[in-house]
Order: sequence, then structure tokens, then C-alpha cells
Amino acid sequence: MPKLPIIEPFRIKSVEPIRMTTTEERVGLLQAAGNNTFFLRSEDVIIDLLTDSGTGAMSSAQWAALMRGDESYAGSPSFERFEAAVQDILGFEEVIPTHQGRAAEHLLFSIFGGAPNVIPNNSHFDTTRANAEVSGAIALDHPCLESGDTASMFPFKGNMDLIALRATLECGNVPLVMVTVTNNAGGGQPVSLENLRGIRGLCDEFKLPLFIDACRFGENAWFIKKREEGQGERDVTDIVRDMFDLADGCTMSAKKDGMANIGGFLACRDKDLADELRRRLVVTEGFPTYGGLAGRDLEAVAQGLREVVREDYLAYRAASIRYVVEALHERGVPVLRPPGGHAVFLDAARFLEHLPWQNYPGHALALELYLEGGIRACEIGTVMLGGKDPETGEETPAKHELVRLAIPRRTYTQSHMDYVIEIIDAVHKRRATIDGVSILKSPPVLRHFGATFGRITVGSPLGADLDADSVGELDTRRVRRETLDKDV
Ligand SMILES: *Cc1c(COP(=O)(O)O)cnc(C)c1O
Repeated sequence: MPKLPIIEPFRIKSVEPIRMTTTEERVGLLQAAGNNTFFLRSEDVIIDLLTDSGTGAMSSAQWAALMRGDESYAGSPSFERFEAAVQDILGFEEVIPTHQGRAAEHLLFSIFGGAPNVIPNNSHFDTTRANAEVSGAIALDHPCLESGDTASMFPFKGNMDLIALRATLECGNVPLVMVTVTNNAGGGQPVSLENLRGIRGLCDEFKLPLFIDACRFGENAWFIKKREEGQGERDVTDIVRDMFDLADGCTMSAKKDGMANIGGFLACRDKDLADELRRRLVVTEGFPTYGGLAGRDLEAVAQGLREVVREDYLAYRAASIRYVVEALHERGVPVLRPPGGHAVFLDAARFLEHLPWQNYPGHALALELYLEGGIRACEIGTVMLGGKDPETGEETPAKHELVRLAIPRRTYTQSHMDYVIEIIDAVHKRRATIDGVSILKSPPVLRHFGATFGRITVGSPLGADLDADSVGELDTRRVRRETLDKDV
């Protein structure tokens, strides 16, 4: 049979209007937002690619499942359906619902965290790192070496560096190993089955549990099918089971591959561990059969988990990211390759070559995408991840200056993506004229959420043309509305 071209494997039943804005309006809106896209109202955004977390469209089957939600405090059949979906798909017997992924992390580290423990991961997502660190533990990232080159076509740039992991395990104080699939902080890049087996081998050698941060497990399994030798003919559901059979448990944000707007869980094999986790769950999240979720949310997640492993969906999902990445690459736009599973990453250091890292090229580029076409993206560079020299206290750059365009699941069409490509191309053509930015005010932690920025004219010495007045007064009503949601 000839292979059919890949299309969106759904049709649209309900639509949400997009409010179009003019360039003049956007100039004013961005000024009022202190040049920070987190302070924009979503109604003032044309294409919102800030995050793929909880922003996707649910299917008609998920909406129908909401009506079936049983809101009983204890023993709800909605929980049974949720539990069965996790058991069937991931193979873990013990299933503990939480209101979202970070609550599962918090629970896990309430047992495995604390000083002087060290938690290795391919790359901690920011909430995972924060939960480990708040518990007193040290969060260590061991991404594979290939992940350092944004242009390398290595197929599994999400892999963990096994040599670094062994060195960390030999130092001791490691209570468990984590691995994030796909590697969100590392560009949505997948982890191979071979690498997962290598990690399991080291966990066996050092007698340690392995927990998977499972947020994008469906996307990861799809890349294993497509990119790993000998996997091409296998069912995604079997690959998923192979991945999780190597682990002792997982944490999950159902806002990602749970295809829901809210939800999460922790799952594991060890009954004693699960019982202890449930005792703690009641204190902060709720009774073990709802864990901070409404019965209807449990239903939406149960249905979403079954939909995310469908191969027509995953083929479309991967194609929709690849389409944008390859179109941009053909136009000479520096973009992270190979395409990842949930987002397109622009390499702002190469895009805006004339801007030194001190002028935050990633943030400058994110602002231009909004001005040019009302696209909201997110800097993942020095503003978000920059450090401080412990001796001089001076700012140090992040490893990369990236702009992430996260694609919500089943939400935008190919013509929306054509628009995104056109806007980025237009910004790229006028890149030499783009000004840098400077931080005007910044909170001590997680500054990307709360900082305000000024523009710096190209060619001027660092910070010289900074005009604080031009930024305008930040609308405090907006600031209050903003949550400190760390999920970006
Ligand atoms: C989103 C995310 C989390 C946290 O999940 P929330 O539901 O936002 O709390 C953890 N790890 C990864 C890899 C994520 O992408």
C-alpha cells in the first residue's frame, strides 16, 4: 500500500478565536509589559508558544470522559480508570495521583532528597531541580556530550553521559537515579533504549532505584521507533513498556503526554514505598484516590494516556515539529537539530551574532518575534539559566542562548505554523538591526518570570543607551495576575 502523507489526524469541533493585533499595538503592549513576554495577556498574543504544558486541545472522547467523572471523595471509579490506564500503559502497579508533575517530584524527594544526597539526571527540568534543592539535595546534570552542539545531528541528544554518571555514583550519597524523557531542558531530545539500558546497568551495579521523569514518554518512544536500530517495526506501546520495564518508578506531568490541562502522578513497583508516599500525599495533595484532582480530571488523563500512544498521533506530532525546524533550516535560520518532540529551538547566539551574551540575545529575539507577528516564545538562555561567579559575584553566561517555541498538542494547524515560519524568516532578514536588552529590575530568583527589560541600541557600548523611561510603568494588576508557575 502506498504510504499516505501525514496530516493532522483529527478535525476541529470547537474553535477559539484569535484576536489579531497590529504592530503599533504590540509595541505599546510590550512596553506596558516591561519587555517581558510573561507579563503579556494571552489575549494580546496571536500564536502562543510559551509552553506545551496543559495548553493542548483535548479530544471529544476526553470531553465526554469529563462528564463521566465521579466526584466521590473516596473509591471513585474515575480513579480506577486512571489507575488502570497507568498500569496498562506504563506497567507500574502502584499509582499515586497528584495535581501536577511537581507535586509528584516533591513527594519523591520528601523521601529520597535532603542533604547530603546527590540526584543525578540527564538534565533536571527546573521544577525537578528546585524540588531536589529545596529538600537539601544536590541536583546534578549529566547530559551526553553530543547535546552540547546545537548543530550535531546525533539522533539521541537527550542521552545521559554514562561515564559521568558512574563517576557520580562512585562518589556516593546517591539515593536514586533519574532520567528525563524526552530531555526537556536539553531541547526536547530523546533518550535511546540503549542508553536507558546502560543507566539501568549502573543502577543495578550500585543497587539504586531508577525513576523516569516521564512527561513526554510517548514522544520519546516514537523517536526510539524512528531512530533506533531494530525498533522500526515495533509497536510504540511495546517500546513504551520496554522503557518503563527498566525503571522502578516514574514521576509524570499529565499536562504533557497525559494530553490534559492539569494532572500528574507518581507510579512505582514497591508497595511499601507507595504506602509511605500515600501517607504523605494525604497531608498535601489529598486522599490517595484523587490526589488533588477532580474525578473529571482523572478521566481526562486516563483517556489522554491512551490517545498519546496512538501512532497516527505521534507521527503527526513529530512531523509538525520537524516541518518547522526543516523549513527554518532551509532558510538559513540557526535552529536546534535534529528536530525534538515538543518544541522548536532557535539558536539566538548564532541568530543575533552581533549581540554578546551580556545583551541577552535570546530575550531580544523573543521580543522581536512578538513585535513582528504576535508570537510568544520563551528565552532559555542567560536570563533564565545564567549563573554567578562565586568569587566576583559577576554574572556568567548559560551554556546556550536559545529561544523555545513550544508547540501545544493538537492546537495549531499547518497554516499557523507557516505563519510562524514566515515571521521568523522576516525577523531573520532584519537581524543585523535588532537591539539587545538589559535587565532593569530583577527578582533574586527565577528572574525570567519577574524581570523588566530595556532595549540597548546596536553598536553602543554595553548598556550605554539604556533608557529606563521608555520601558513604561509595569502594570501591577498584571503582575499580580501572573503566577510564579515555574513551568516554562
Ligand atoms: C513540566 C515538567 C515537569 C513538571 O510538571 P508540572 O506538571 O508542570 O508540575 C517536570 N519535568 C519535566 C521534564 C517537565 O516538562
